[in-house]
Amino acid sequence: MTEKRCSRCVLPDSYPGIVFDDKGVCQLCRSYRKPEVKGEREPRHLMRSEKGAKYECVATLSGGRDSTYVLYSAVKILGLNILSVSYDNGFRHVQSMKNARNACEVLGVDLLEFRSRDDLNARITAHALHVSIPFGPGAACKLMCRLCYNGGLAFVCSVAEKYEIPFVLWGDSLIKKISFIPVRDTFLKFRSPLRYLLSKRGPSFVRFLRLLIEQRNESLPSETSGLM
Ligand SMILES: [Zn+2]
Repeated sequence: MTEKRCSRCVLPDSYPGIVFDDKGVCQLCRSYRKPEVKGEREPRHLMRSEKGAKYECVATLSGGRDSTYVLYSAVKILGLNILSVSYDNGFRHVQSMKNARNACEVLGVDLLEFRSRDDLNARITAHALHVSIPFGPGAACKLMCRLCYNGGLAFVCSVAEKYEIPFVLWGDSLIKKISFIPVRDTFLKFRSPLRYLLSKRGPSFVRFLRLLIEQRNESLPSETSGLM
């Protein structure tokens, strides 16, 4: 049998949860909205009032190209005093940490690193895989992304709060905003993804949520007080 594909993005009909409309366009393409690009003036204008503080902004840094370029732009183009933060979920390659440290050294930026402890992220990842089994690889992919998002966001917000830094530069991806769980099942039968997951994976899903809370709490200000 011939494989059907989205007429716009060529995703196949074997993709988890994919639904085509009568023009053969998938729901991911239909929900796509082109992001509004505001350019360099907007952040400059927003941050002007804080000019001169030791740290005007916290910038997240993985050591990859995107966040390194954001850091470079913030320092060299916008002229901001940056405190850089790097979150290690326990699965990071040693080279990415080296890249992050090297970029901060070259740009003269302070760097705070945080590593999740007691193999917490490994335990959460195992639970995420277990919870997502009935929904296929798409759901597992989305849950994996949420793990770094959960711990990393808690860390960067706790640093901003602790050092009273009013702005955060944070990179994101549309993949975290897309639901890979079949839309009709989720919303028509259960009205919310949370209720859907609870109904399908009750106890293991509750354990997974507990671990996410533990992951968020380990990065809170009292826990990160010894960083500097
Ligand atoms: Zn598509």
